[in-house]
Amino acid sequence: MMAPDLQGIGMTSRRTRQRLIQRLRESGIRDEQVLTVMLDLPRHIFLDEALAHRAYEDTALPIGHNQTLSQPYIVAKMTEALVADKPKRVLELGTGSGYQTAILARLVDQVFSVERIKPLQDRARERLNLLKIRNVSLKLADEKVMGWPDKGPFDAIIVTAAPADLPKDLMLQLADGGTMIIPVGEGRQILKRVVRRGDDFDISDIEAVRFVPLLGGVVR
Ligand code: SAH
Repeated sequence: MMAPDLQGIGMTSRRTRQRLIQRLRESGIRDEQVLTVMLDLPRHIFLDEALAHRAYEDTALPIGHNQTLSQPYIVAKMTEALVADKPKRVLELGTGSGYQTAILARLVDQVFSVERIKPLQDRARERLNLLKIRNVSLKLADEKVMGWPDKGPFDAIIVTAAPADLPKDLMLQLADGGTMIIPVGEGRQILKRVVRRGDDFDISDIEAVRFVPLLGGVVR
């Protein structure tokens, strides 16, 4: 039998999620698969209990260690851009809470996700297990190499922290024809789409965003 409080939260949060999905539609999110996954997936379990009641506001929220879970609109926008060409194997930089990871896991075959803060990675792993998500591999960031070159090339790459400039070593982990969605810049940033064409890259702007910085090193 399901614990009554769990069931209660489940019911209310689905209704509040319906309102969130309506807002995402009004903000221009069109991909029905993305909207359905976000309607089904609880966001409150990716937050500390004290913040869980704010999970369905369209706002970024702290997850500890000076990091944030992105605003649902931005998660939806990035996911929509990422899955447009139906990628099968996807690399994510910045597991964070695991929320974006869980969404991707329901839309593609295999997700490879890298995080540099061990305690965040540990919690993300617990949540993914709780949701019985099995098609995700997690890795602690390498001190020297960005991304996960051993598992590449990837059909798509999503980066949820911002480097000052486009990282060439990461772009080279894209398969030919593959797409990377990445915020770039310091302070004010632009979300960019990078498509690999052989040795060339088509780069276009999506919209202005604000992310935490992409950093080197590992926090254990
Ligand atoms: N997608 C996350 C957002 C996390 S915020 C979510 O849905 O919750 C960005 C995350 O990127 C932080 O957890 C930060 O520790 C991580 N990060 C920053 N630089 C990184 C790097 N070089 N490699 C991997 N992760 C990194």
